Amino acid sequence: MVKKTRSSAVFNGRCPRCRDGNIFKTSVFTFNNFTKMNPRCPNCNLDYEVEPGFFYGALYISYIFSVGIFAAVTIILFVFFDDPESKVYITTVIVLSIIFYPFNYRFSRIIYLHLFGRVKYDDSLRTS
Ligand SMILES: [Zn+2]
Repeated sequence: MVKKTRSSAVFNGRCPRCRDGNIFKTSVFTFNNFTKMNPRCPNCNLDYEVEPGFFYGALYISYIFSVGIFAAVTIILFVFFDDPESKVYITTVIVLSIIFYPFNYRFSRIIYLHLFGRVKYDDSLRTS
C-alpha cells in the first residue's frame, strides 16, 4: 500500500485524517451541487466542521486565490496584450473569478481543513 501524500489528498479533496473519504458529495463540475459537503468523512467518520463556524476561516484562503487571479490577469494582459483599456482588465477579472468560483470555493475549504483543522493523518484508517 502506497502512502498517500497530503498534496494528493488536497488535490483530490480527501479527508485530512484518512486521506480516503471525499470531503465534497459531488464533483466540482456538477454545476448546482458543487458546494455540498459531507458532514462527516464517509470512511473514518471525522466531523469535517471541527468547531462551529470553522469554515469562515476559509475566506482568507479564498481571498488569496482571488488576489492570485487578479494579479495573473493584470500581468498577462499588461505583458502579452499591450496594456489594454481598464474595462478589459475589469471584465476579464470578473469573468475569470466567476469561472473559477467552484474551484476557489472548494480548494479554499479543503486547504483550510488540511492546514488548520488540527487533524493528524492516521494511516491505519485507510481502506484502499
Ligand atoms: Zn476520513
